Amino acid sequence: MNAYAKPLPAINEQSRPYWDAAKAGRLELPRCDHCGAFHTYFEPWCSHCGGEGVHWERLSGRGRIWANCRFHKVYFSGFETDVPYNVAMVELEEGPRMVTNIVGLKHDVLDEMPIGMEVEAVFDPVTPEVTLVRFRPSKRTP
Ligand SMILES: [Zn+2]
Repeated sequence: MNAYAKPLPAINEQSRPYWDAAKAGRLELPRCDHCGAFHTYFEPWCSHCGGEGVHWERLSGRGRIWANCRFHKVYFSGFETDVPYNVAMVELEEGPRMVTNIVGLKHDVLDEMPIGMEVEAVFDPVTPEVTLVRFRPSKRTP
């Protein structure tokens, strides 16, 4: 029985490399063969230059909080016991931005996750198939 009651991604041929990498503890994203832009969507074409063809590339997993908020409304019943919870957009050091959660905060308040704070990826296996990429405050020393 699967105890994880939150929505899960529908893994398909285009997105499988992302999920396989996350399961193995790596953050990988598709990168355009032509202009080099990273994508956070899983299509074989580039919305930046219109080119066709992408390859998968490993990213450092390091970034900074670009936007933050807390969700107080229950959009899916699986989140009933979590509200309020944080949602952040992290700008990775390679450029792309990901919507995620920040973990490892003491009280889970926005003051603990200010815009610009350095974060690093952590890999959260929520089911045997799906590992979610979340971020925690960076352990790097300034
Ligand atoms: Zn491109």
